[in-house]
Amino acid sequence: MIIVPLGVASATPTAVRHLPSVALWREGDVHLFDCGENAQMRMLQAGLKRSKIENIFISHFDMDHYSGLLGLITTLQLQRREKTLKIVGPKGIREFVEWNVKFANIELNFDIEYVEVDEGFELQRVVDTDEYYVEARPLNHTSFCMGFRFQEKDKPGKVDAEKAHSLGITDDEQFKTLKAGEDITLEDGTLVKSYDIVGHPRPGDSFAYISDTKYCPNSVKLAMNTNILYHEATFSDSLADKAAETGHSTSSDAARVANEAQTKLLVIGHFSARYTNPFVLLREARAKFFPAWLATELRPIYTNPSQEKGIVKPKIQIKEMDEKPGSKPPKRKKFDKGGSKRFRSRKSGSSDRRPQRDDSGERRKRRPERQNNDYNNQGSSRPTKHITPRTPFDNFDRF
Ligand SMILES: [Zn+2]
Repeated sequence: MIIVPLGVASATPTAVRHLPSVALWREGDVHLFDCGENAQMRMLQAGLKRSKIENIFISHFDMDHYSGLLGLITTLQLQRREKTLKIVGPKGIREFVEWNVKFANIELNFDIEYVEVDEGFELQRVVDTDEYYVEARPLNHTSFCMGFRFQEKDKPGKVDAEKAHSLGITDDEQFKTLKAGEDITLEDGTLVKSYDIVGHPRPGDSFAYISDTKYCPNSVKLAMNTNILYHEATFSDSLADKAAETGHSTSSDAARVANEAQTKLLVIGHFSARYTNPFVLLREARAKFFPAWLATELRPIYTNPSQEKGIVKPKIQIKEMDEKPGSKPPKRKKFDKGGSKRFRSRKSGSSDRRPQRDDSGERRKRRPERQNNDYNNQGSSRPTKHITPRTPFDNFDRF
């Protein structure tokens, strides 16, 4: 199972963050949790095929969480999709989509199966297949909102083939029966118990998507023992009052849910636009729960990195992922004069600056002029600041 955050903003997009949407990749299929504006573009950039979408889950009717839905449906139509699409959302989602499709005079090539959830429910299994199911529970937001848990069903244990052969089992049907947990009787009358041949069932992967809500016990129930919990952390602790007023969580609330649910990994997202550097939110979450990560758009999170790495490849550069010591721009190497490797970049920087200092007489004269002339342009001459937080804990192979 691979989780790819497509949008980690809340309410309004920023220059570097898009409206809420998280993709879950599993066995070639994609499941979308919320579909903010730009979700389909971000899928393309993330290397996820839109034609592979099986289910779309809409948590609630705040526009930022479903504003990308109609555009995505139109794209699927233009791609000549034939497979049925499942849309799960609060009651009214069907009317919303159907009215708009009719308004745009589109006759869809594919069927949409709606699962509408009405207020007042406690727990509903909104999707159920042979291999996985998805459950919804109501959360505590200013409007009706629900959280989801995607749960793979347990996989049968591994068969001890050597032992099976030694007992004389060769038939596929016999293996199937044993794998299903049933005992078989061989032709010579020997009884072979399933548990002698088949190991313990392997637990399926699980993922919980909690957005938007205050702290609530249902979040804990949904996230109980999950591999990955994606929880909103709109505000920092210093704005706890604002979080309570607007029906959102602080990073500590997210950590509290992770702790109580004993999840294996907490990923926080849905950041308020006021945090240009969400590291403050991560620090607060990590003080109470570890491991906790910041959701970074397009950066995949794996439940099994050894098998899943490389399956979903972002089509655009993500700085932390793609930056390798060898991939520095060749320009920098020009200044490397064989000094200590560790400080190479710093040395090159200083040798870069030195000649400028030498002729600084002219520069000094120019600087105050610029400040006096145009205050607003003052910042534009500064180099662009890289604001992605790096911490020693961000080892993405670790989980
Ligand atoms: Zn929201």
